[in-house]
Amino acid sequence: MSFTEEFGTRVTVVDHPMVQHKLAILRDEGTSSKQFRELVRELALFEGYEATRDLPLEDVRVKTPITEATCKMVQGKKLAIVPILRAGLGMVEGMLELMPAAKVGHLGMYRDETTHEPHEYYAKMPEDIASREVLVVDPMLATGGSAIAALHYLRKCGVKNLKLAVIVAAPEGIRAVLAADPEVQVFTCAIDRGMNEACYIVPGLGDAGDRIFGTK
Ligand code: URA
Repeated sequence: MSFTEEFGTRVTVVDHPMVQHKLAILRDEGTSSKQFRELVRELALFEGYEATRDLPLEDVRVKTPITEATCKMVQGKKLAIVPILRAGLGMVEGMLELMPAAKVGHLGMYRDETTHEPHEYYAKMPEDIASREVLVVDPMLATGGSAIAALHYLRKCGVKNLKLAVIVAAPEGIRAVLAADPEVQVFTCAIDRGMNEACYIVPGLGDAGDRIFGTK
């Protein structure tokens, strides 16, 4: 069964030629941190473009230099971007370029050494998060553990409209996220083969946080 058949309309693979081109450079181990950060920002912008495709529009009257016309503008929909720390931070700037009025919440996750369950160690959300359409961002969706914990946290906050944008996903992670949250929509630039024994995505791009922040 293909991924399209398996995941249906809940998963969008943003596979535009420019996205694939940038992703190939992103994966290359020789790509510098500076270029890596720029590419993550650009890919986030492309993904934001797809993730906001369903935003409602309203008619507005515009006076062009030639005549008056009825045009469309995005309705005053309240949006929030929630990066999962730390790698998710790399996607915020690109998303904000597209949605400059969006608020940004931050969510830090750690894995309990005994239970291996992810828990939030830091959470700072806009006060009205429950009434916002929320886009959770994290470049890598591997096992899905932190993404699922983030989605649970936001559901507990009362968020109804949730989307998850990643750059590279493992099929196992997508399956886990879709099963854990029956409503969330997932956006990714690629669905890779799987994971290795250390839970790195294969072929993947290595540790996204280290490559964004030059910590390795
Ligand atoms: N997180 C990363 O940064 N890379 C992976 O391959 C998996 C999880």
